[in-house]
Amino acid sequence: MNFSDLLNSVPTGLWLDGRSTPSESGRTFDVLNPATGEALAAVANATPADARAALDRATAVADEWAATPPRRRADVLRAAFDAVTARADDFALLMTLEMGKVLPESRGEVSYGAEFLRWFSEEAVRIGGRTATAPAGTGEIAVVKEPVGPCLAITPWNFPLAMGTRKIGPALAAGCTVIAKPAEDTPLTMLLLAQVFAEVGLPPGVLSVLPTLDAPAVVKELMDDDRLRKVSFTGSTGVGRILLAQAANNVLRTSMELGGSAPFLVFDDADLDKAVDGAMLAKMRNGGEACTAANRILVQNGIREAFTARLTERVAAMTAGPGWEESSAIGPIINAKQRGSIAALVDEAVAAGATVRTGGKQVDGAGFFYAPTVLDGIPDGARIRRDEIFGPVAAIVGFDTEEEGVAMANDTEYGLAAYFFTENVGRAQRVARRLQAGMVGVNRGVISDPAAPFGGIKQSGLGSEGGSEGIEEYLNTKYIALPAI
Ligand code: ADP
Repeated sequence: MNFSDLLNSVPTGLWLDGRSTPSESGRTFDVLNPATGEALAAVANATPADARAALDRATAVADEWAATPPRRRADVLRAAFDAVTARADDFALLMTLEMGKVLPESRGEVSYGAEFLRWFSEEAVRIGGRTATAPAGTGEIAVVKEPVGPCLAITPWNFPLAMGTRKIGPALAAGCTVIAKPAEDTPLTMLLLAQVFAEVGLPPGVLSVLPTLDAPAVVKELMDDDRLRKVSFTGSTGVGRILLAQAANNVLRTSMELGGSAPFLVFDDADLDKAVDGAMLAKMRNGGEACTAANRILVQNGIREAFTARLTERVAAMTAGPGWEESSAIGPIINAKQRGSIAALVDEAVAAGATVRTGGKQVDGAGFFYAPTVLDGIPDGARIRRDEIFGPVAAIVGFDTEEEGVAMANDTEYGLAAYFFTENVGRAQRVARRLQAGMVGVNRGVISDPAAPFGGIKQSGLGSEGGSEGIEEYLNTKYIALPAI
């Protein structure tokens, strides 16, 4: 399929009541191709009134969806998995066009993202409770699980499909209705997903999609309405704090997948080949635009130059170009603002004394490209050692002892992912336990798996997505006190 056939097949209205609908305001906004800076499509721009209409529907069908037999909910999710998989090429190209990642990575995201639908189709029929006899024998304790009710899912632009399915999958499996608010840079993938859900029989109103340029007003409208019962957010810690404060008003259930500053530790006893391969994945996959991306590459000084030289060689060989071209190893940055903030972090570090081993600059011409970069010798106070880079910049810092490496790794308000490389089993067990992170990769550069709980500690978030834990986020626990038998 060529670009325009695909774009013509994607709904561009709000997804309300099982179909594509204009905003009540009649307004639209352009979605840009970050590889060219040109508009791909004009998408309906939801208003607070549109948000109320979506919540009206999500509330009206909530009881019916909650009462739909789990096997039927599972069948819809499984059919959606099959349909997304059958249209993998369309979803992949669409993500490459609106988000920029290279096509092989988009295909990887389709498999990963679709898998949440299959995984949670399997979990839908395994929602259990428990019973027990009260210790004093005075009664029976029955514990049952019930869907929390209408949910709001707010997603970022870096994984346009997977961040949607990771929330929508468990919510639908649990019996909740969902209003999805995709990132303004990448709403098309979520709209196509909603259309696919409708095609496989998801009843109208159970899933709505509200693209908007005015996320704060649309989201506030929903969160101030006590019919909404849950918000699940993936995005920056700053916005997460705002949402947590707003959620307090109606005491909403919340799941927060926020920022990260993942340490990537390479010990002297690491296998250098594995460590360099792992760093390429943990740093450069998705153009470095991932909250799990290696943000601080901490290398024990005995191996530092060897590691840095090898990594530099690999990074320097990467060609930045449009994601749909086979020669491109890395796509553009999502937008001009984001590229500007990456450039500022690098420029400041270099001004303070860091060494550019490769890259270190924007790529001139159309689109928002930034050269894949390796920086070494980052001085202590540099902002790049604290802030989330969210771009293809490997920032290397040396350390001497295990103690010092772990202390540096934990010296952050974030606690999402951490990675380390060692061939020493004792060290592996010790360091895995001592790292303050919700997810730790041992000799691995990629850790996400739909069957595992994804989530952070400290200021990286609350709750888990995926795994058997993921569905709990969408279930309330009810205790029923029964008389003694
Ligand atoms: P990023 O910096 O990666 O774009 P953000 O946290 O700004 O991450 O955005 C993640 C999601 O949160 C997007 O869907 C965005 O539209 C939404 N968002 C941003 N600001 C707000 C806000 N004040 N209230 C609600 N949603 C918001």
